[in-house]
Amino acid sequence: MGDGDESQDTAARRLRQLNAYFREHPVRGPEGHSYTRFSAHASTTAPGIPFNTRVSEHIDASVTEVVAHTRAANPDAGPAPTRADAVYDWAREHTRNAPEAEQFRRDMLEYRHYLEHAIAAGDTSVVRPHRCPDCRTVGLFWQEERGTVICFNRRCAQANGGIHRTHSLARLAFEHVALQRRLQACAT
Ligand SMILES: [Zn+2]
Repeated sequence: MGDGDESQDTAARRLRQLNAYFREHPVRGPEGHSYTRFSAHASTTAPGIPFNTRVSEHIDASVTEVVAHTRAANPDAGPAPTRADAVYDWAREHTRNAPEAEQFRRDMLEYRHYLEHAIAAGDTSVVRPHRCPDCRTVGLFWQEERGTVICFNRRCAQANGGIHRTHSLARLAFEHVALQRRLQACAT
């Protein structure tokens, strides 16, 4: 998969879009922007920090996460690329011979970042095509205040004591990569 190809909707492309988005949206005031808080990075963000700082923290944290995972899987990976969006190609290149469990984690990480970068740039529609991991219906929604994905299927909530089920982006990423693997296995 080449991330230089703009027709591919990838984490790298969403990161480039996020970069562009935050350059085009200078901070106007403390409440000028709502910024999506992800549970994974929640401790590094605090209310009142300017939007640009938080987006830039989000990007730094994402790159650090990919680099850490890649080095853990392959200590000989060498220096990480200087361009943030190049980190996904770099990670794939240096873990292509890693055990399947590592490659699964890498793909899951990249897909979660794809979702996170899109949501951070205001595109929450990326969660909609996913199926709820519990009731298997499509039509999930991103809930900004809670930083989570919610299933509004009535039967799903009924089966859960009347409470709408929520899912992390990591869970959606896990389901997505697992499905990809099953499809690949069927195709071969
Ligand atoms: Zn559901």
